[in-house]
Order: sequence, then C-alpha cells, then structure tokens
Amino acid sequence: MSAPAPRIEISLSKIEHNAHSLVTRLATQGISVFGITKATLGCPIIAQTLVRSGVLGIGDSRISNIRSMVQGKVDARFMLTRSPMPSEIDAVVRYAGFSLNTEIQVIKMLSKAAKRANRQHGILLMVELGDLREGLMPADLPKTATTVMSLPNIFLAGIGCNLACYGGVTPDTTKMNELSALADLVEQQTGQPLEIISGGNSANLEWAMSDGDCGRINNLRLGESILLGRETLQRKRLAGLHTDAFSIVAEVIESKVKPSRPYGHIAQTAFGPAPTPNDKGDICRCILALGRQDCDPNGLTPPKGFTILGASSDHLILESSTGLSTVGSEVAFQPNYSALLAAMTSPYIAQKFV
Ligand SMILES: *Cc1c(COP(=O)(O)O)cnc(C)c1O
Repeated sequence: MSAPAPRIEISLSKIEHNAHSLVTRLATQGISVFGITKATLGCPIIAQTLVRSGVLGIGDSRISNIRSMVQGKVDARFMLTRSPMPSEIDAVVRYAGFSLNTEIQVIKMLSKAAKRANRQHGILLMVELGDLREGLMPADLPKTATTVMSLPNIFLAGIGCNLACYGGVTPDTTKMNELSALADLVEQQTGQPLEIISGGNSANLEWAMSDGDCGRINNLRLGESILLGRETLQRKRLAGLHTDAFSIVAEVIESKVKPSRPYGHIAQTAFGPAPTPNDKGDICRCILALGRQDCDPNGLTPPKGFTILGASSDHLILESSTGLSTVGSEVAFQPNYSALLAAMTSPYIAQKFV
C-alpha cells in the first residue's frame, strides 16, 4: 500500500544533526539553546529528538502544544514563549516550568496559581529593544524585576528580548550589548545572578557565530534554524546544516497540454485578482491535490522542471517543462517556515517519519 498523500516527510536524523550542530557550535560561545517547537504543533517525537541533541529545554508559544509534549512523555524543561493569556494561567503553571512575560498583573496571577498548585514557576522578563513586539520598556525593567522577586512561588529566571519578528530590527552587537547591560543592572539591583539571558531567535545566529564576544548573552531560542537549516535575516543556508529535513509530497490528479493564459472574460478569482501570465502558447500543466487548506502554496519550492502557477483551496497548478506527468505520481516540495507551519498544523496532511 502506498503512503497517504498529501503528506509531510520528516527526517528525524537531519533535525537531530542540525540541532546538535547548533548546540555544539554555540556552546563554544557560552550560549545554550532552547529548541522551539511551535512550527511542529508541539510534536513529541521531534521534541524528544531536540532533547537528545542537547538543548537546555523546549519552548513553544502554545500551552496546548506544551501539554501534548508533557503528555507525550517528553523529558524536558518547558518554556511558554508567548506571554500567557490570563484565561490559561492554571495550565501554564501546570505544564510549563517557565514563561516569557511582560505584564506584572499576569505574573501576579501566575504567582497565585503556582501557590495553589504548590509549584515554582520561572519568569523570563522580556525587554523591548526596538522591534516592537513583546517587551517591557527598559526603564521599567529593574522595578519589575524587584516586584517579581517578591512574589511567592515565582522566581526570576532571567531576561530576554526578541528582535527581527515584527519590525525587522537586526539583533546586532549594539542591541545585544544593550541587553547585556540590562542584565548587569538587574543583577546589581536585585543582588541575585540571572540564570538565563536569552538574546533572541534564529535571526541572532550571524551575530552569535561571528567570533566576537557575546557579552552576558548565554541563551538563544531556536526554531527555524534547527528545522530548516537557515538563519532568518537573509534565509542563508547555515554551513553544515540540512535544509531538507522536511518535504511535502502531493499527488498528481490531472496532467494535460493546455493554453498558458486563461481565456474568456476575466473577473476576480476565488482568492482575489486574476493572474495575468504571459501567453507562450500551449504548455504542459498538471494539478496536484494540495491547496491552501493544506499548506501555504507561496512557501513551496518545486523540484527542477516544475513551476508553481497558482493555487486554490484544494488544487496546486504547476507547469512542467519536462513533459506530462503520470496521474497518480507524486511531486515533492521543500517548504519554507510558513508552509511548514501550515502543513504541520493541517488536519489534511499526513506525517511520515523517515
Ligand atoms: C518563535 C519564537 C522563537 C523562535 O524563532 P525562530 O525564528 O523560529 O528561531 C523564539 N522566541 C520567541 C519568543 C518566539 O515566539
């Protein structure tokens, strides 16, 4: 029997190689790694692979993903990487050992919930350094740190920042030095050393792996670079890493020679303005059973000989430069982060570990 299509094929050995390689290289700079699993829907098998590769812990933006990994018996320290919603506080304390936070009233709720559950919960305070996603303004950090330390069943595990997400601000030496200086300031103010000073995500790798001094930064939170083998400022391939740990495989359901341009009176399509391809006469077109409900078609790289012409909810339309394909044959694509995220979270895509 053939494997179900569409499916995502996942190479655990390539993921393990990537994670281990980044963990080892960053260790020489004094930097530990949280493996970030949100693009995998908190897949326990992948998380366990990251744990085997030597990560300090596992981070995910969704508490439901962390619950799946805890229930899937992944043996790790778990960190919630999105600020907790007040409506999920009890689950946060129950399943995650740490969370990233910016709102003192939420931290007070975590304290109360941790006390009720007789647990200790670690707080990483996120600082705004210009990208304008989450973060306390730096001037508010010392006061907030002191308040956090006074709360029962809560400990201040460290500070962190997140750049290159909303504003595209580069995590360079200037920004990292700012975070280092804030770590010193908080330690002076509270008289306690911070365990984790988390400089950012996969966009920080160029900075971290250049030979310079990393200052007080001793941790990064890495998702895309582990899974797809690329840094995220220019999406350059990282030396020695696999960029093909995942592939998305779909099945041909039509293959015919047809015109290159739609014909008739042209109005809007199901997804907005109609495409206006050049007229190059008849071409070999094929349709795959894969669409926007399954993954992000703009994030797919087709194999040699194929060009993606467009997609609807359920159909991916390709041009083939090498002749007609056999109906029932399969085509494999390389996903980018957006396509990976969509495919791993789509109920229509089967998963096959290879
Ligand atoms: C998603 C996320 C990460 C990981 O980002 P990558 O670019 O996948 O490495 C790190 N930190 C936070 C707060 C995140 O939300």
